[in-house]
Amino acid sequence: MKVFTRHCAECGEAFQSKRADKEFCCTPCRQAFNNRRMQRGAELYDLFRIMRRERDVAKTEGVWAEMCRLERQWNDEDEGQKTWQSAKKALANLKGKGSIPIGVVVARGITGKARTAVKLS
Ligand SMILES: [Zn+2]
Repeated sequence: MKVFTRHCAECGEAFQSKRADKEFCCTPCRQAFNNRRMQRGAELYDLFRIMRRERDVAKTEGVWAEMCRLERQWNDEDEGQKTWQSAKKALANLKGKGSIPIGVVVARGITGKARTAVKLS
């Protein structure tokens, strides 16, 4: 049986695995990685919703700048370690969630009533 040498996505240590795609050396590392993503996602949730639904408030309050400041802080905390998933994996995690197909952007007209679905190419 083939054994793969991998590097843990959380602690960076080398470990052996029978699976070529195993990401973590142990359960505590997997939990730490996912808990950090969950915490940071919670911090971003309201800011992102304000960016999408209350554009004037977002602009007045500097929401985008705060989102960028948060990302900078996380980058400093992570000390160069990649603590996010690939775009391919992040999008795959969304498969089957929601009624709007992935890749379709819902835009609201100036009146706030008209909604159109735009397929990104
Ligand atoms: Zn680890």
